[in-house]
Amino acid sequence: MPSTLQPVLDRIAAEIETLPGRGSPADYIPALACADPRRFGMAVAELDGTVYGVGDWRHPFSSQSITKVFTLALDLSLEGDELWEHVGREPSGNPFNSLVQLEYENGIPRNPFINAGALVVTDRLQTLTGDASGALLAFLRAESGNDRLTFDEKVAASETAHGDRNAALAHFMASYGNIGNPVPALLDQYFRQCSVEASCADLALAAGFLARHGIRADGSTLLTRSRAKQVNAVMLTCGTYDAAGDFAHRVGLPGKSGVGGGIIAVVPGRCTVCVWSPGLDQRGNSVAGVAALDRFTTLTGLSVF
Ligand code: GLN
Repeated sequence: MPSTLQPVLDRIAAEIETLPGRGSPADYIPALACADPRRFGMAVAELDGTVYGVGDWRHPFSSQSITKVFTLALDLSLEGDELWEHVGREPSGNPFNSLVQLEYENGIPRNPFINAGALVVTDRLQTLTGDASGALLAFLRAESGNDRLTFDEKVAASETAHGDRNAALAHFMASYGNIGNPVPALLDQYFRQCSVEASCADLALAAGFLARHGIRADGSTLLTRSRAKQVNAVMLTCGTYDAAGDFAHRVGLPGKSGVGGGIIAVVPGRCTVCVWSPGLDQRGNSVAGVAALDRFTTLTGLSVF
């Protein structure tokens, strides 16, 4: 095993240059639609906080659903297993913004990484902290060491303007009593959460606790070893929506994608990886990002299998 994976990252970046198709950026809000699909960055953070990368690895992008991992971990650290009464942990096999399963399952979303489940987690974190997106931002800043991390208010406003689907999900779950806060206040928190601008370096570092079995950058415990395992397990089975099976097959790591084109992946006990390229496939996962992680585990043998 090389002491640094830099040569592997350099090789992957060169290979990605020749990738025939890159997909298209998310187009549901203008702020994401104008991203350049040729951009590519990849960072690795070691357990001790050493971070290195290639390409646009220090360029901030819209983290979007990647934040769902952090709100889940924060909520679990506060309320523990009570959360699982309100959200499941089974793959949905449906698109990330789907409504269809909610009616059959009494307003309990299938998992915390589809939008419905993430809304429940943010709602509960909001009740527990009084400021879910603020708690998230403080955590991301502390773990990445980047105090400049912040929300992109334009993206958040754009999400609000095009937020009918998320509003429908929240109202529907509220009708089953599975949302505690007023829906507009919850949506405001959720859209701010999704709008966090962060780079591959920031997000690889922020996810480090998942590789350190629940231990934060300062050595304190966020999650027990068992809970960190549970979060990684849900990432593996649900982190890339209805492509989670294909992602596990190709990459073999717990991973979480966002429609900004980022993906974080965890090698428990070894390192975290974050990759970014804005072109998405049909299921909302970065085309070059999945390809790069596929090559990463193939070239290094670093997978959970
Ligand atoms: N803000 C997006 C939404 O709620 C996040 C979705 C995603 O990244 N998959 O629709």
